[in-house]
Amino acid sequence: MINLILFGPPGSGKGTQAESLVKKYNLLHISTGDLFRYNIKNSTPLGLEAKSYIDKGDLVPDSVTINMLKAKVDENPDVKGYIFDGFPRTIPQAQALDELLSPSGGVSSLLMLDVPDEELVKRLLNRGKTSGRADDQDDQIVRNRLSNYKKDTIPVFDYYVDEGKSVKIWGVGSLEEVFARLSLELDRL
Ligand code: AMP
Repeated sequence: MINLILFGPPGSGKGTQAESLVKKYNLLHISTGDLFRYNIKNSTPLGLEAKSYIDKGDLVPDSVTINMLKAKVDENPDVKGYIFDGFPRTIPQAQALDELLSPSGGVSSLLMLDVPDEELVKRLLNRGKTSGRADDQDDQIVRNRLSNYKKDTIPVFDYYVDEGKSVKIWGVGSLEEVFARLSLELDRL
């Protein structure tokens, strides 16, 4: 099984690249951000809880996020593998994922899309103009998300470095260029 973590700061292109990768490699795309937005749109109790954090650009608590992710994986047992997009974002989430995937060989690789900060802020505020996402429209919220990424999420990259699984991919360029760089790494798995 291929269990890929597509990693990187908000605005690095994870969602866009994941959409292309699932088609080529026939994997299931699980985006915790998309799952939260789906729940918010449908006003579920999970959505109501998550919204207060997401609107500020804060991370949703681990227990809530991990349970949601586990349920999604358990719903789809007969797949060739997964692309995790936006998860794990903390060390406890990484530990929970390792445990969840241990029967299927664990995490295969973590690919980090590397994009400079100023480019990210520009991309996110631009996306906010068309996506309707409130958390993409406010400079302070965008910067809070980037600072949470550095504080809580970068340690996840280091965690998988210790297992020899973390790879940095240059995330600036056309969609096709970045896709080709990612594919090169995936073909090795
Ligand atoms: P994203 O679409 O991945 O940028 O996620 C949007 C927002 O959802 C984030 O800013 C967080 O508030 C929340 N979120 C998504 N994934 C996670 C996660 N793994 N852990 C905690 N919060 C998350």
